[in-house]
Amino acid sequence: MYDYDLLVVGSANADLVIGVERRPAAGETVLGSDLAVHPGGKGANQAVAAARLGARTALLARVGDDAHGRLLLDSQREAGVDTEGVLVGGAPTGVALITVDPSGDNSIVVSPGANGRLTPEDVRAAGSLFQASRVVSAQLEIPLETVVEVVRGLAPGSRFVLNPSPPRPLPTEVLAACDPLIVNEHEARVIAGTALGDSPEDWATALLALGPRSVVVTLGAEGALVASAEGIARVPSVKVEAVDTTGAGDAFTAALAWRLGRGESPEEAAGYAARVGAAAVTRPGAQESFPTAEEAEAL
Ligand code: ADP
Repeated sequence: MYDYDLLVVGSANADLVIGVERRPAAGETVLGSDLAVHPGGKGANQAVAAARLGARTALLARVGDDAHGRLLLDSQREAGVDTEGVLVGGAPTGVALITVDPSGDNSIVVSPGANGRLTPEDVRAAGSLFQASRVVSAQLEIPLETVVEVVRGLAPGSRFVLNPSPPRPLPTEVLAACDPLIVNEHEARVIAGTALGDSPEDWATALLALGPRSVVVTLGAEGALVASAEGIARVPSVKVEAVDTTGAGDAFTAALAWRLGRGESPEEAAGYAARVGAAAVTRPGAQESFPTAEEAEAL
């Protein structure tokens, strides 16, 4: 019996957003809108998305001993995430400085801060969380050696899900543990590291050859594709009016990881995740846009 349906190991950032008429050139100052501060980071987003759907969720992350860290802890607890595994201190909370122009184009500077201080030792010290979790998910906004330690710390019989974002080449040990590896087109190309064909089926086939037990390719409004040694299947998207796609991938990943852990087939779980991702694009923001189970079912 597991205490947690999902343990997310990953980043927590404060997203600091200012609207501008245009981006400043070097040496220039421009005036912008009032500052908006949102809880973000892929790890924190996935944990909130899963908990809001009703999954028993825990987060292993590191934040600073500062106001941004408290904002992140509050948003996790409000969603129902167990934050016992969130470590505090060592560096300021990670921050994304985001400017958005009237056309909606972003410029982003990320300071990883405390995310960069989540160490393999921190993972080893959280052994009891790993033993208590049916599924463990990670992303790449924390050090790669920490992700390697996550794979080594998995309890027998538990499942590992990786969204390699931002993408970089991965060691075989990490790839072999993924069930699934969840990628969009850009991530697929970086992870494969070679020229890939044009079709998502080609990308999935090339990625499977690198060793993961299964692969899921997300295709935005086109839905997704699930692939394993048993075959490749397309999962349709749900038609919605897209308002803001921020966080859709995080919501999709969280929902997929949770449902796979409940024993659903990859197609079933990805079909549910596509509904959750679609619901998330109908509202602005990331964590603010994630649906409850009822809202996802209603689509
Ligand atoms: P990422 O942000 O990682 O690139 P995607 O944009 O592919 O991820 O979104 C993840 C999932 O969310 C998609 O596979 C799809 O199921 C859903 N989704 C994303 N954008 C839309 C959209 N415009 N309409 C319907 N579903 C969407």
